[in-house]
Amino acid sequence: MELFVEQPGQLVLRELAPVPAPGPGEVKIKLLYGGICGSDLSVFKGRIPYAKYPGRAGHEALGVVAAAGSGTPFAVGQKVVTFPNTFCGECEFCHAGKTNVCKHKQSFGLNAPGVFASEVLVDHRFLVAVPAGLSDERAVLTEPFATVVHGLKKAGVTKNTTVAIVGCGTMGLLSAVFAKHLGADVTVIYNRHKHEAVTDSIGGLRVVQAGAVGEELFDVVVEAAGVKPSVEMAMRLAKPGGAVVALGITGEQVDFPVIRIVRSEITIYGSIIYTKADFAETLAYLNDPALPIDAIVSKIMPVADYRQAYEAAMSGDHVKIVLDFQGA
Ligand SMILES: [Zn+2]
Ligand SMILES: [Zn+2]
Repeated sequence: MELFVEQPGQLVLRELAPVPAPGPGEVKIKLLYGGICGSDLSVFKGRIPYAKYPGRAGHEALGVVAAAGSGTPFAVGQKVVTFPNTFCGECEFCHAGKTNVCKHKQSFGLNAPGVFASEVLVDHRFLVAVPAGLSDERAVLTEPFATVVHGLKKAGVTKNTTVAIVGCGTMGLLSAVFAKHLGADVTVIYNRHKHEAVTDSIGGLRVVQAGAVGEELFDVVVEAAGVKPSVEMAMRLAKPGGAVVALGITGEQVDFPVIRIVRSEITIYGSIIYTKADFAETLAYLNDPALPIDAIVSKIMPVADYRQAYEAAMSGDHVKIVLDFQGA
């Protein structure tokens, strides 16, 4: 089966045409789990102008290698996760190691075919091996967690860094998981907080309503809500010499407090996705049982229940909804 977006608002689960044997450089994977991401919902709602329709949905996948073409480093039976933003390897950004801003980047499930199907052929360069012993429920979080690892590394979050995270959705909560794991002193700032069980399970967080923040300033502020007020708040909360990591995306115009940013030497890091090196690092973090990430997956639902799964994801009442493709 495959999950297909015919056009905005039209999601169907349909029979998958037989998947051919992998050619040179290709790998056929059998899907285990697929994570539903905010961008999947945006594609479904027609909110991304460069999304291509019709197209197969999904980019966060954990699978097992069913067949490997020549010239690939994978063996049958190896578990892999998708690295769902392609890069050319040849442009000036790729040469500089910044494959995340490759000129020719394409995104699975958006402007390149997605991976929500029981079997998928993938170019081996866009698969990463999962370490033995890592649980499937953690491995499926590799892609969204890598986004956070990439971003927070820029600001040098370490033991005792004071970190404010503006936004309490999946990105905000994953940022809290990572900052806490690095030993930071973490404050999560929310507008509406629906995930108390998750913040409790991460443990040791201060959780504060946006209106109650006061004058306190932080070494690092992570903007993970992506709306005008949250971006403006993030720039206000950084200490002199501090940093803002911008993970959230908004098309709105935002007031840029020049005096504060210049006089207080605030560094603003834009951060988009990840590189292969970030994936390797992320998988190592996920493989550490001390990483407090297990409450992030809210529900695992059979792909046959895709409608309820998308609705659950859109409700905002859950964190990560995962589709189970086993037996599909
Ligand atoms: Zn994602
Ligand atoms: Zn490139």
